[in-house]
Amino acid sequence: MSKTRADLLRLVHRTPGLTRAQAARDLGTGSGAATDAVATLVAEHRLLEGEPRSEGRRGRPTRPLLPHPDGPLVLAGQVDHRDWRVRVTELGGGTVAEESGTHDGADPAPVLAAVRAAARRASRRFGDRLRGAGLAVPGPVREGFLLDAPVLGWRDVDLRAAWPGRLATRVVRHANDARCAGLAEAVRGQAAATGQRTGLHVHLHLAEGLGGAVVRDGSLLDGRHTATGEFGHLPFGDPAVRCGCGAAGCWGTALAGQDEAAVAALARGTAGIVNALDPDLVTLGGRATDLVGAPGFAAGFARGLMDVRRADPPPVRPSALGAQGPVVGAAELVWDVVLG
Ligand SMILES: [Zn+2]
Repeated sequence: MSKTRADLLRLVHRTPGLTRAQAARDLGTGSGAATDAVATLVAEHRLLEGEPRSEGRRGRPTRPLLPHPDGPLVLAGQVDHRDWRVRVTELGGGTVAEESGTHDGADPAPVLAAVRAAARRASRRFGDRLRGAGLAVPGPVREGFLLDAPVLGWRDVDLRAAWPGRLATRVVRHANDARCAGLAEAVRGQAAATGQRTGLHVHLHLAEGLGGAVVRDGSLLDGRHTATGEFGHLPFGDPAVRCGCGAAGCWGTALAGQDEAAVAALARGTAGIVNALDPDLVTLGGRATDLVGAPGFAAGFARGLMDVRRADPPPVRPSALGAQGPVVGAAELVWDVVLG
């Protein structure tokens, strides 16, 4: 595919409904090149031009660029401590099908079997339109294995069992749900809503433990084992307290409640991360979403900042996507590869 067409598809994925004229401006191409690229992508059943609408009072009506009804799709799944979800998304992130269910957490095998059955139904319905699959899980992941889900007591779970044959040969990605939530917040959530898609974005996701992600210009930062973001195991807690991870004094052990002490610990640690990483934006998700606005958070955060950071601190905002974050992010991990 030509660079202009690939860029245009990524642009429509990011901002579905933008017009051809806006796309030409954003891509820095002439309107002729944009028109040609749109025509080709429409012919290839990737894009569709919607009903004309007026752009301002004087401008001629223009048509919004939308996902084609026969266009490419990505399947995204999420497993947390009591639910599973499988969603089929189109270009632009819209949901075209979804199934969900609950589980008792006793054994990962029936949960992955339920995801697999839902994925197989989606695969039968949508066929080759499904370009890949992503899965968000509550724990660190390495090479297709969920290493440890402390709340569930699951260890070394082969996540590839979630994908039926045809889908398994496509683009497949598995990741920690906190990392997925961070990516989602950057691409579709708070960072996108506030126009901060570029720069350094730190997301902290407080569920049973505290995880997170570092996103640079809309892409996850990956470490050696693609597990960057385990902020809950920084030693911001009481050194006398042993964490379930095996280390002592982990920050996450101080964040178990919703009380004043937890708010203070969250605020102080968030300031420490800002001191260390100098991010453009911090978002807080999961249980932390409600703690950003709690009494004492703002003051505790300010007190923890270095003077040089306090002069111009980054915004610290609650998650915009809430519980949707992990599944949205699991889809984006795959779209990122599919759209090149
Ligand atoms: Zn720990």
